[in-house]
Amino acid sequence: MTSSPSISYFDATHEQARDTARRWVQQAILPHVQDWEEAGTFPRDIYTQAGELGLLGIGHPQSLGGAGESDVFLKVAVSEELMRSGSGGFVASLGSLDIGLPPVWRVGSQALQDEVVPQVIQGHKISALAITEPSGGSDVANLRTRAVRDGDHYIVNGAKTFITSGTRADYYTVAVRTGEPGFGGVSLLLIERGTPGFTTGQPLRKMGWWASDTAELFFQDCRVPATHLLGPENSGFMTIMANFQSERLSLAVMGYMTAQMALEASLAYVKERVTFGKPLSKHQVIRHKLAEMATQVDIARQYTYRCATLMAAGKPAITEVSMAKNFAARVSDEVTHEAVQIFGGMGYMRESLVERLYRDSRLLSIGGGTHEIMNEIISKQLGL
Ligand SMILES: Cc1cc2nc3c(=O)[nH]c(=O)nc-3n(C[C@H](O)[C@H](O)[C@H](O)COP(=O)(O)OP(=O)(O)OC[C@H]3O[C@@H](n4cnc5c(N)ncnc54)[C@H](O)[C@@H]3O)c2cc1C
Repeated sequence: MTSSPSISYFDATHEQARDTARRWVQQAILPHVQDWEEAGTFPRDIYTQAGELGLLGIGHPQSLGGAGESDVFLKVAVSEELMRSGSGGFVASLGSLDIGLPPVWRVGSQALQDEVVPQVIQGHKISALAITEPSGGSDVANLRTRAVRDGDHYIVNGAKTFITSGTRADYYTVAVRTGEPGFGGVSLLLIERGTPGFTTGQPLRKMGWWASDTAELFFQDCRVPATHLLGPENSGFMTIMANFQSERLSLAVMGYMTAQMALEASLAYVKERVTFGKPLSKHQVIRHKLAEMATQVDIARQYTYRCATLMAAGKPAITEVSMAKNFAARVSDEVTHEAVQIFGGMGYMRESLVERLYRDSRLLSIGGGTHEIMNEIISKQLGL
């Protein structure tokens, strides 16, 4: 089963990067991914391997050692192959730099960019983004973690939660309140592991994304150099919103790839599993289920490609990306649900890929802005 054959969005460079990622996933990730899922983490040298292959630099500026930030389909091609690991948690944790780093190279000082970005895209350091707080994640404008200027430092107090790469990142891009209530009082600070007053919690136990370390962060009179402010004070909200665009596109890719893998596993299974004297594929109900699944996957994929095309052309695509994320996440939930059903009892077993895909899928309507928040964005475009 392949996607639509008609138009290719990918050029030779994209295909080359895709090949690199595919081979790496087959050789270095797939043999271990089940163990990593059970362990709730994966070895740190996987970051350096990915860095050496150039996979971490995709989407980041060439001037800082990356592959450039504008080639959206390069990112899509490599993300599709990383998702072939079958572990959303692995992909999310390896990719936390894609949400943590852009504010640094977009609005951070040149000195900070030079110090931080090359090390992260080489895989020597890990970057994370910390917006969500125990009091809420959807209402970003009302976050409570406070940073008060004290000479040439900020003193930070508060907490963050559900942070991907939370237990082992080296650099955290942290949203803080420096000013008035509401979106106009939000800033971003880069906070380094080891800064006095900054601690991280144990990995949180989750429904899915097991290979990803998700954690709470605590700041108690944490003194952060004022030079670590990213962009002008109180301008963080717009930077956060800009950051969400590429994150949501990536989540859409994760959605249709999760569904694609569940579909492929199901297609193989229905040919070998025999019930009532014939393979499952010979039961029309099962065939039609697979036809529906294939239709959903292809539409989710093709619409995401349309969004990527708009973004690559520098066109505004906020509404479209919100639609793509919602649609692909819904497709992923529905297709993985059907895949587990097709596998019967085996679909409920931890050894089945579809079991993991089903659990991992549930996050996609929550992370990076929930289904409801995407619908709020879409409603505004409808004039509501
Ligand atoms: C595995 C995992 C990894 C994550 N990684 C990160 C990370 O790296 N960095 C980070 O900052 N955050 C991260 N998050 C947090 C994630 O972004 C938030 O969980 C998400 O934004 C929702 O926030 P919340 O959980 O506080 O839910 P809430 O904001 O409390 O919302 C609860 C429910 O109410 C709905 N709701 C809220 N407001 C409205 C409204 N106006 N209209 C209708 N419905 C509404 C929501 O859609 C949701 O269904 C992660 C979460 C998980 C589970």
